[in-house]
Amino acid sequence: MILPKNNRLTEPEVDQLRAIVGEFGCRIQPIVGDVRTIYAIVGDERHELMVNRLEGLEFVDRVDTIQSPHKLMDIRSDLARHRVKVGPVTLGDDLLIMAGHCTIDPKNPNLFYETAAAVKEAGAHAIRGGVWKPRTNPYAFQGDNKSLEILMEGSRRTGLPVDTEVMDEEQLKLALAAGVHVLQIGARNALNYSLLRQVGAAIAGKPVAVLLKRGMHTGTLNEFISAAEYIVNFGNPNVILCPRGTQPGLDGYRNQPDESITPLLKERTWAPVVVDPSHSVGKAHYVPACALAAVAYGADGLCIEAHVEPARGLGDDPKQAVTPAVLAGLIKDAKALHAARRSQRTAQS
Ligand code: PEP
Ligand code: MN
Repeated sequence: MILPKNNRLTEPEVDQLRAIVGEFGCRIQPIVGDVRTIYAIVGDERHELMVNRLEGLEFVDRVDTIQSPHKLMDIRSDLARHRVKVGPVTLGDDLLIMAGHCTIDPKNPNLFYETAAAVKEAGAHAIRGGVWKPRTNPYAFQGDNKSLEILMEGSRRTGLPVDTEVMDEEQLKLALAAGVHVLQIGARNALNYSLLRQVGAAIAGKPVAVLLKRGMHTGTLNEFISAAEYIVNFGNPNVILCPRGTQPGLDGYRNQPDESITPLLKERTWAPVVVDPSHSVGKAHYVPACALAAVAYGADGLCIEAHVEPARGLGDDPKQAVTPAVLAGLIKDAKALHAARRSQRTAQS
């Protein structure tokens, strides 16, 4: 990873980098952070002669050769200075709340608009709504392209950014063309490396973020962080890690809650962590406690399924979605806990 002296290099300067690394069978991938651009060396970056020649350039500050399987996502990477933003919230500063339907009902757009308005009123900063759904049962409702227009109308009406899951390249293209702000990679696709690469390539240079769920099985930290590395190494570092519970589940919960993974992730990576308590515990009445536990463990945000009338919802909503009233109480408690954690940390430092 090449760290320039200035915030970014000129094209002729990047060309000089390309020429040098090209001699050693490597290439340059600029990663555009909000503070500055760094230049990843793709390939074996350990050639001593290559590093010496790069460090000899007057516009290069230094070359970091972090020995990590996820060198861009690593906490020691220069990207640790990058801050991911969703709408008005800079992750790490304020607690991000995303809330909304598991699944948008294309036959009943008003339900989604009502939920969008209600979650905004409750204090959410972004709205989630499933357009295309990964369903275990092939005969269950799989989502509908029409719901994309409903999702974006919900965004227009509330002025809030929206999140939706994409499972293939076609959906990715449609979501980006429609202006979706946060692309979700679901737990079933968390290790679909072709999709991760496609998403990384498609969002390069765009003001779009990715909410990457943890895989459904009890995967390692390295596996989770490396999945994010697949996206970031195409140039857009706006990636958010989302623990959502793993399988096998704890008897009584849908999954094994894993919000306690948060401090372990934070020791290894700079990426913000937004926990999904809804899929973790899988029942609306357990969601508030799981959400607060996530904040206690240091989460930067929460992604919660919420619905004005859960019983009329599709997908997970009838069992998992909290009402706007419950969401409002949860947000109040979560913000208070987040503030308490912050002042505790300030006092300790
Ligand atoms: C969802 O967010 O509705 C969803 C299907 O999530 P996950 O991929 O975590 O199961
Ligand atoms: Mn769901």
